[in-house]
Amino acid sequence: MKLDRIEARNIPDTRGKPTVEVTLHADELSATASVPSGKSTGSHEAKELRDADGGVETAVANVTGEIAREIALRDFASADELDTFLIALDNTPDKSRLGANAILGVSIAAQRLFAQEAGVPLWKAIAERAKTAPGAPRLYVNVINGGVHADFRLPFQEYILVCEGKTSSALATARAAFEKLGAELGDVPMGDEGGYSPTFDTLEKPFELLAALVAEHSGTSIAIDAAANELRNGRGEYTLLGKDYTAAELTSIYGSIVERFPMHSIEDPFSEDATQDFARLTDALRGKCLVVGDDFTVTNPERIEAAREAGAITAVLIKPNQIGSVKEAIEAVQATHAAGWAAICSHRSGETDDTFISDFAYGVGAHGIKAGGLGQKQRLEKYERLLEIEKEAV
Ligand code: PEP
Ligand code: MG
Repeated sequence: MKLDRIEARNIPDTRGKPTVEVTLHADELSATASVPSGKSTGSHEAKELRDADGGVETAVANVTGEIAREIALRDFASADELDTFLIALDNTPDKSRLGANAILGVSIAAQRLFAQEAGVPLWKAIAERAKTAPGAPRLYVNVINGGVHADFRLPFQEYILVCEGKTSSALATARAAFEKLGAELGDVPMGDEGGYSPTFDTLEKPFELLAALVAEHSGTSIAIDAAANELRNGRGEYTLLGKDYTAAELTSIYGSIVERFPMHSIEDPFSEDATQDFARLTDALRGKCLVVGDDFTVTNPERIEAAREAGAITAVLIKPNQIGSVKEAIEAVQATHAAGWAAICSHRSGETDDTFISDFAYGVGAHGIKAGGLGQKQRLEKYERLLEIEKEAV
């Protein structure tokens, strides 16, 4: 395939911050992709290129300038070949020269173009590329937002209702539970990811609320993203609700949460380099609750491999913009599966209308998808796309 026109622009994300959107043209085909942006980011992520004022003009100019010059009219046999070319063109370990946001925008739009050319749905093209068995992921619906996504009204960043089964029935369950919880909580603010953001003075309260929803709906359970990087207090400990905890104390808190509540998974229970703490918790919770790496593994196949050697986790969050290309995000899924672990594909807290992550999660047959709460259009669109895929896939 030869790309004959490469366009890029900045668009606002759900927080009103600019992000990169790319449109690629090849003959009569064209495809657009936009790139999400995180707030609780790990320091080992590929670098999102931001101007001094927070804009993405340099990243946009890198797409329309150097990247366009180098890829236009060159013949690429596959999306993989194009990604390999972009990675080599950037030539840094963290995509800091051209920007992970610039590269990923091109990479996703190209994946769409190659799917169009092959005449197959996007999820199917991804499954063929990744050599995975496609299938509906569990819905990880972030019903209560805390941490940096909600001005720390609650310590943990995400309190999630995990809904199993076909997307249509899982989403119906999530809708009923989300509405019920909303009625119970009354007039509370919404967090960044379209979930409720109440304030409670005990750690347990959100778990009690979610456990009541789980008791009402079969095929549901609870997950959290502790996002513990954001809980560090600079003294080697973690602060929750104004109280300091060592890693060992936090481990026993997680242990008692798992004993008391119907837990499915705990993400980023410790800070991004606390490998031994992750491994100890994973041992303690084996067979009871998944331990998920996010800031810990940053969708990086090398960090996933290191985590495997340390036996540190049992599941990996997959966010394409943490690594900056579809090719490497697929390699991260493959490394996760090779370790015998669950892959959970995820949006970012700053989102756009792009629903690539839904096709990606379905295509790689992910264990789950994190796409936020049901109180924001850009999160609902991800679930709606999964419903469409459910129909396409029959
Ligand atoms: C997360 O931490 O899992 C998340 C989705 O938030 P952010 O995009 O802010 O990293
Ligand atoms: Mg996370």
